[in-house]
Amino acid sequence: MPAAAPPPRLEEVADRVHAYVQPDGTWCLNNAGFLVGPEAVTVIDTAATEARALALRAAIASVTPLPARTVVNTHFHGDHTYGNGVFAGEAVFVAHENCAAEMAEQGLLLTHVWPDVEWGDIRPVPPSITFADRLPLHVGDTAVELIHHGPAHTTGDAVAWLPEQRVLFAGDLIFNGGTPFVLMGSIAGSLAALAELRALRPERIVPGHGPVCGPDVLDWTEGYLRWLQELARDGIAAGLPPLAVARETDLGPYREWTDPERLVGNLHRAYSEARGEPLGAPVEFLAAMLEMAEYNNGQIPTCMA
Ligand SMILES: [Zn+2]
Repeated sequence: MPAAAPPPRLEEVADRVHAYVQPDGTWCLNNAGFLVGPEAVTVIDTAATEARALALRAAIASVTPLPARTVVNTHFHGDHTYGNGVFAGEAVFVAHENCAAEMAEQGLLLTHVWPDVEWGDIRPVPPSITFADRLPLHVGDTAVELIHHGPAHTTGDAVAWLPEQRVLFAGDLIFNGGTPFVLMGSIAGSLAALAELRALRPERIVPGHGPVCGPDVLDWTEGYLRWLQELARDGIAAGLPPLAVARETDLGPYREWTDPERLVGNLHRAYSEARGEPLGAPVEFLAAMLEMAEYNNGQIPTCMA
């Protein structure tokens, strides 16, 4: 992996519950996690490249000799699923039913966006167990509820909620320190999801990207999404396309967040919803990505995976 990204780190967020944080949380540098049970390990998300997934497996092995028997994917994006192959043969894969369909449809999309990344032997093994709304898991004494929300970040998001520990693995419903990304999901759906997550009253949140955090991140995310809706309303009233709106918008407090070019893709989603299209309706991803690149000084954003 390139030297540009700092090394991943483990953080024990509750007894035998570990977050695997990959700084700096920008494009494709996702977080994963794992729970150590009495006989086996349950993994939450893998990583983008073979090397990064092997590093995740090595990090698990540094904590326990037990095998990974279950892998949960929070959604289909390659940074959370391309490393599944590293756990194939020993684990069963679990995800929301839409995640399965989206994995099949999108294939290895990220390798086309970032052809220079050393992806290695990546195999986004699809789930063998899917669910619609909720799926309770038991990792030894630890109860884990997989809960579908959305469409939010995608149409097949699931969080892993540990009610006793009040720990939430939020997947990409939450980016801590990075710009939220709803191009493939929904803004209205994300706002509904945030309300549902708030009702769980989580104390520690392992976001899909960025450092482990507290529930304040829910407020920040909500503020950004509502701001997006306002920008879209004003942009449509002024007859401006998303890229033009993004270019003339002062990011204000969101300037501090990484990957600001996501504003352009997010506005495409906001426009779709303002036009009354169904939540989560397909929006042309590569075209939006090219506009994000235009906003980003004509460069495809850097991926340090
Ligand atoms: Zn994602």
